[in-house]
Amino acid sequence: MILNSFLRLEPEYRDYIWGGDRLRPGHAPTAEVWVVWEEDRILSGDLAGRTLGEISSQFGESLLGKRTVDRTGKRFPILIKLLDCAQWLSLQVHPNEQQAVKLEDSLQFGKTEAWHILEAKPDAKLIAGVKDDTSPDILAAAIRNGSVIEHVQYAAVSAGDTIFMPAGTLHALGPGLLLYEIQQSSDLTYRVYDWGRPETEKRRLHIEKSIQVARADFAAQASPMPDCGDGTQQTLVQCEYFSLELLSANSNPIELDTHAESFHAITMIEGKGLLQSNKERVELEKFQTVVVPASLGKYQFQPIDGNCRALKASV
Ligand SMILES: [Zn+2]
Repeated sequence: MILNSFLRLEPEYRDYIWGGDRLRPGHAPTAEVWVVWEEDRILSGDLAGRTLGEISSQFGESLLGKRTVDRTGKRFPILIKLLDCAQWLSLQVHPNEQQAVKLEDSLQFGKTEAWHILEAKPDAKLIAGVKDDTSPDILAAAIRNGSVIEHVQYAAVSAGDTIFMPAGTLHALGPGLLLYEIQQSSDLTYRVYDWGRPETEKRRLHIEKSIQVARADFAAQASPMPDCGDGTQQTLVQCEYFSLELLSANSNPIELDTHAESFHAITMIEGKGLLQSNKERVELEKFQTVVVPASLGKYQFQPIDGNCRALKASV
C-alpha cells in the first residue's frame, strides 16, 4: 500500500515546572508539545488511531523515504517539540550515536538538535556551550563540584534565530523563550546542573554520564533569520540527521516535492496555511503539524489571509 494522504497527528502535551501558558492557553503550565513523535497518533483517515512509529515500521519507505530508510531503517528518526519556557530549564547535554550505544543500549539514537526561536522577551538568553578557555579537566571538575555554570557561554537570542546544537554541547533554555525544537528521536538527556532546585526522583542529576559526553571545545552560535520574500523557502539547518527549512508566503504558493527521498513535517509557526496535493487540501492553524509521506510526491503550500510562515523538517 502506498501512503498518499497528509497525516495529521495528535500532539502530546507535557507539563513541567518550567512551563508557560502560550502553547495551550487555559492549561498552564504547558512546557512542551510533542508535535511529531513516534508515539503520536494519527488523527484522521484510514490510519486513525495508529501511532507514527507503527506506520513507520509497517509502510517503511512509503512513509519515510529512500534516504531515511538507507540511513536509519524503518524507525521514525526525528522528534519535533514546541517549548514554552517560563523559567530556566536544567543545564543538560545529550550523547552522540556511539556514546548512546555505549552508555545506554544498542537501540538508541544519539541526540543532535536545533532550535528555531519563535518568541523571545527582550532580555531572553540561553546557554549554548562553554567559554573559550575551558579545558576538559576544568569542565569535568566543575561539573562534579557544582560550579559548571561559571564556565558556560550565554547567548542573547531573538525571534527568528536558529541555533544548531550537536550532541555533546552543554545547553539550557532561559525564561521568556518560545521555540521549535527538532532532534533525533531520543529522550537521552543528562542533567548537569539544575539551578539549585532540589533533586527529586524525576529530576536527577547525571554527573558521571555528563562528564563523559560534554564537549569542552564547543559553543554554538545563533544565526539570524534569513531574508524571506513572498513564496520562498530558506534552509535554516542541514546536517546528517535532519534538514530544516523556513517557508514564507504572503500571496504566492510554494511548490514542494518529497521526491520519494524523505517525509516532510510541516509545522505552522505564523498565520494560517493550506497544503494541497492532487487529491486533498488540509488547512493548518498556528502550531499545527502535518506529516507528508515520502511517496506523496508533489504538493503546494499556500498562505490563507496574508502573511504565514511554516517550518519544513525532513531527512
Ligand atoms: Zn536538549
